[in-house]
Amino acid sequence: MKAKVAINGYGTIGKRVADAVAAQDDMEITGVVKTRPSFEARIAQEKGYDLYTTARENIEQFKKSDIKVSGTLDDLLDKADIVIDATPGDIGAEYKELYNKHGIKAIWQGGEEHELAGFSFNSEANYKEAIGRDFARVVSCNTTGLVRVLYALDTAYGIRKARVTLMRRAADPNDIKTGPINALVPDPIKLPSHHGPDVNSILPHVDVTTMAVKTSTTLMHLHALNIELKDTPGEDAIINLFKERPRIRLVSSSDRIKSTAEAMEFAKDMGRPRGDVWENVVWKDSISISKGELYFFQAIHQEADVVPENVDAIRAMLELERDGARSIAKTNKILGI
Ligand code: NAD
Repeated sequence: MKAKVAINGYGTIGKRVADAVAAQDDMEITGVVKTRPSFEARIAQEKGYDLYTTARENIEQFKKSDIKVSGTLDDLLDKADIVIDATPGDIGAEYKELYNKHGIKAIWQGGEEHELAGFSFNSEANYKEAIGRDFARVVSCNTTGLVRVLYALDTAYGIRKARVTLMRRAADPNDIKTGPINALVPDPIKLPSHHGPDVNSILPHVDVTTMAVKTSTTLMHLHALNIELKDTPGEDAIINLFKERPRIRLVSSSDRIKSTAEAMEFAKDMGRPRGDVWENVVWKDSISISKGELYFFQAIHQEADVVPENVDAIRAMLELERDGARSIAKTNKILGI
């Protein structure tokens, strides 16, 4: 029997996780929750997802829009084994009591604090620790991207210290309220940024410090990394290490991928749903060792990289698969990574 997954918060992340879950052979979507009628609700219905809403008083609005609603979040939580909470940051915390009341397992996203779930997840770094857990938080897009490369480097060579500058997209492409902006905004101005401590919620022993700047783009984040390793490998060894990782895609400027715009175009040309890039995009030709330290650039598609991590977190928490590498391989194969 397939595991039953509910999605509370069917926006940028929620709708992508829903499609990724529906594509797997060991889990299915029991229902998705929308607060009000919208094109997303209509498309969810066309895809065959049962729609639920947050409160009984919203049902009338859906009826008026000719969208069928199967009930409320309360009803849905009784039918599912696990809920993916992809509501906006800080809203998810308000649902913890309700999830507890229904005795349902829950996965929150990076907009919530680590303490809410008491456990932060990354498929490669700590799958084993997620097995059988009731609550987890899939860390943010930036933290997921950082953990993927830092975990690989730390396991292979040991990290003495990592210093990272994150150039963040100002808003998602569908966001008409907050961006893009005509400015470069140090964010936060008080350094370092929260991203380093967030990486430490998964890799507590890694010395990592981060700075972040909001930039006038919606496409992707760009990270500039400078890492001092305990062993100093050659550039080729780093390239081979990244090549072997399941969620790192090496690209090259000689292939005319010289920007986040071309990285996104590449994903569209590959026929990726919504043009999503689930992997870290690392520029092979940026990988350099200078004065004993490693440097490289990577781009992170903020709307997509956490999606396969949510699928793996479900598998671990519901004990559908005890081996992390096997879950990653299965998720990747089905998604086409
Ligand atoms: P979003 O605004 O695109 O989607 C949130 C959805 O939740 C919307 O459909 C909204 O209608 C719905 N919603 C609002 N209030 C609700 C409520 N009280 N109950 C139920 N649903 C409600 O947000 P998003 O970008 O998908 O972010 C969701 C989470 O994922 C946040 O924690 C965010 O920090 C995290 N995250 C976002 C990104 C990104 O770049 N978009 C990347 C990684 C992680």
